[in-house]
Amino acid sequence: MLEVEFLKRYPGFSLEVRLTLPEGKTTALLGPSGSGKSTLLKLTAGLIPPDKGRVRLGNLDLTPLPPERRKVGFLFQDYALFPHLTVYENIAFGLVEARWPKAALKARVEELLQRTGLTPHAQKKPQALSGGEQQRVALARAIAPRPRLLLLDEPLGALDLRLREDLLFFLRRILREEKTTALVVTHDQEEAFLLAETVVILREGKVVQKGRAEEVYTRPKEAWVARFLGHKNLLSPEESLRLGLPPRAHLLLPGAVCLEPKTAWKEALVEERLFFGARVGLWLSYLGIRLYWEGEDPGLEEGARVGVRLNPALALPLD
Ligand code: ADP
Ligand code: MG
Repeated sequence: MLEVEFLKRYPGFSLEVRLTLPEGKTTALLGPSGSGKSTLLKLTAGLIPPDKGRVRLGNLDLTPLPPERRKVGFLFQDYALFPHLTVYENIAFGLVEARWPKAALKARVEELLQRTGLTPHAQKKPQALSGGEQQRVALARAIAPRPRLLLLDEPLGALDLRLREDLLFFLRRILREEKTTALVVTHDQEEAFLLAETVVILREGKVVQKGRAEEVYTRPKEAWVARFLGHKNLLSPEESLRLGLPPRAHLLLPGAVCLEPKTAWKEALVEERLFFGARVGLWLSYLGIRLYWEGEDPGLEEGARVGVRLNPALALPLD
């Protein structure tokens, strides 16, 4: 288990977190900008001191150790590679520091060059590589010494969309293969869900929910979490009542709103049609309530009318 417990106060902000996380797995720290994600990571790494708190990994107390003795690997958004070293030397850096024997060092660096597809670039300097390649070097450098704990802060943050996707799947594969205990910070829920077994949601310095990705997504504890995770159909008690549900707040999970073009269900008006490519989103006005539907293109234009049916089994009561 990785156990972190911290109190850290800044003017106007306080982080108060207590977490137990699985070892050998990836956990995502997910939260909006300013929720304390980077602060939590830096506290875990020992880069900033807590007002109070500790870090334990298994039966090892990392708290009294300075960052360089914690055997923690980092990967930050501005992955500063050493510009005067080659790709090979960058990846080997931590191994040289840790005095790995020559043969083991060479084997580890070559293995990582191969797994990251960087073998042809081994003798180049970082500035001769593309952004995506540089980020792969940074990842290989971080995992090379087999850190006890790998901390990644918005590792895909600085890249453009296409590259992000490529690297996301690459990172996912490497994290699973390495079986390192990893904490990855992101503000993007899809990224968190894809990378991590466990997702921790931070809001204003506090943990609001923790669980498996599926669980957090389909059972958000409160409306704020639901909205943050991208859910769109949140109903007030009064709206719930109008839709035939008990008079309390509800979240309609994906699939709850069904289109029934050829039946006698009450009709909704298509107010907006969003074309995403593989799927289409529709904002509907139904009994005076704005509802969102998404799926394969049903061929409905803005202004069209369509029957709507609600599946009450997918309506989740919220506090
Ligand atoms: P996130 O990474 O989730 O965007 P941060 O952990 O960077 O959030 O910041 C959380 C809060 O702590 C913010 O309000 C930020 O302004 C504040 N903060 C972070 N570092 C410092 C610092 N060194 N001094 C004062 N306030 C800080
Ligand atoms: Mg941050």
